Amino acid sequence: MQKLIVGNLKMNLLTIAERDRYFESFKKELKAKKLLDSKIVICPPSVHVESFVKKTKTKTVSIGAQNIFWEERGSYTGEISATMLKDMGVEFVIIGHSERRKYFGETNETANSKIKAVISAGLVAIYCVGETREERDSGFAAQIIVQQIVEGLADISSAKVASVVIAYEPVWSVGSDSIPTSDEILETRILLRKIFAEKYGLQLADKIKVLYGGSVKVTTAKQLCIDPGMDGVLVGRESLIPMELVKIAEIISVSSEQGAVNNK
Ligand code: PEP
Repeated sequence: MQKLIVGNLKMNLLTIAERDRYFESFKKELKAKKLLDSKIVICPPSVHVESFVKKTKTKTVSIGAQNIFWEERGSYTGEISATMLKDMGVEFVIIGHSERRKYFGETNETANSKIKAVISAGLVAIYCVGETREERDSGFAAQIIVQQIVEGLADISSAKVASVVIAYEPVWSVGSDSIPTSDEILETRILLRKIFAEKYGLQLADKIKVLYGGSVKVTTAKQLCIDPGMDGVLVGRESLIPMELVKIAEIISVSSEQGAVNNK
């Protein structure tokens, strides 16, 4: 199955010169590596989306956005809609990232409105879920994740839910160097499958793509994505260095190929 390696560039690449250096370096790194059945999704700041589409989009590289507003058009100063991004060549949108929840007051309900808008525009939503350190330590991680899924995907038909990619991002791991164990990630992946099976049936539960995000690096990628049922990774800081992002993509694609051979 195709693996997704999503790079969230956040609010970085401050100048055109910096952005152009990123393009050059990314292209050079990509040329030198062989990615087996995987796709890199780069999510630049919105001001760079158009140039990223022009300079980096290929069959194996897609462009994503980091956020949208749920309305399609109108008097919403400062916002951009999914339809605008779709027209520009964007294919994915990150929704409900923990930084948007923390700094911009986003909730499961606002994520729900945004996911609906992303789907209506014909784009793929990458919906971020995950518990804080306190929630994990007090034994509420599973409950929080169930709530994020149930509320975030409320009133969306199963046919549409099937297109959503879930990114499991433990908040305590994002931007830190703490990482969960492979078993903890597997437990959450199984929990997600259970929630989808109960709500939408086994067929859909088998189809839903699940990514892991939180301190993915060249040194941790293999361990964090060792579960063959994991469909890829969401990379923050390390995606700012094209060499590291492409290396991570290579590690994920090679280990998925090895998994496929071992399962034969
Ligand atoms: C993220 O921002 O979604 C993320 C996973 O960041 P980092 O890789 O830096 O932990």
